[in-house]
Amino acid sequence: MSDLVYSRRDFLCRSATCAAHLGILSASPLWARQLWAAQERFPVVASEPWGRLERVAEGVWALVSTPFQDGATLCNGGIVAGRNGVVVIEAFATDAGARWMGEQATRLTGHAPTHVVLTHYHGDHTGGLRGAKSVGAPAVLATPTTRDYAREGNDPLNDILNRVTPLDAIRPTEIDLGDRSLVVVPRQGHTASDVTIELSDPSVVFCGDLVWNEMFPNYVDATPSRLTQAVRLMRLADAETYVPGHGPLADRDALDRYIDILDHVEDAARRAIAEGMTAAEAGARFQLPESTSEWVLFNPAYFERAIGSWLAELGHPQP
Ligand SMILES: [Zn+2]
Repeated sequence: MSDLVYSRRDFLCRSATCAAHLGILSASPLWARQLWAAQERFPVVASEPWGRLERVAEGVWALVSTPFQDGATLCNGGIVAGRNGVVVIEAFATDAGARWMGEQATRLTGHAPTHVVLTHYHGDHTGGLRGAKSVGAPAVLATPTTRDYAREGNDPLNDILNRVTPLDAIRPTEIDLGDRSLVVVPRQGHTASDVTIELSDPSVVFCGDLVWNEMFPNYVDATPSRLTQAVRLMRLADAETYVPGHGPLADRDALDRYIDILDHVEDAARRAIAEGMTAAEAGARFQLPESTSEWVLFNPAYFERAIGSWLAELGHPQP
């Protein structure tokens, strides 16, 4: 991996993404890796050290990135193919990862990608844009906020970001692939501007980082009440498969467990306010709910950050 990629990712991580998170994950024990590897839900059509591509349905694939490696992709994503186009979801952490996904899309569908949709601006979802463009020169779709935040200080990608096709930030956008449509739904909560990509047949929601599975989420740029609201709305869609931004593919029960965690964090924050505790004190005391005791990846700093995010929203910002 080049120094350029490292420095770019480092820059984005400092303001926006998951650098600490990656450090925690790379220190995870072997048993956690084995647990992760055992959580395939669908047939695996490609497997690399950095992730596996699962075939969710005819023309629909989901990438589950392995968080324990210095991975080419780092975040999850997907491929959706129709008669008139091939959509890749996310541009991943590195050019190599994004190029690999473009090549997989071409191999699996017989056609190069026509669209790349960015769910939000974090560097592990956008850093590989140049690699994504290198296979079939797909149009890149993102909300104006995602484009602008990704563009901040990111000169090496600005030529691509300047030509992004803007997604409506208020109303859903349909991507018509001829024999099937995807609906890109603008949301917020993980960041100021997130989108989900939703299919009705089969019912699949690509959630971006609004949803994490088997891993405690990163609240670094979150608006927690909006996050909870967005996830509850996604749950009401009652989809068969939810593709999280990080972690193995989720079903409805897994999404319910995730909602348990979000609610648990809110409860902890409200209790902290009632008892005059800081986010650090409340984070140190925080326990995951019973239903998620098997979640293998968490860190007290993340608990503090999550509770601090709620405290800020509720008018008790931390110093
Ligand atoms: Zn993110």
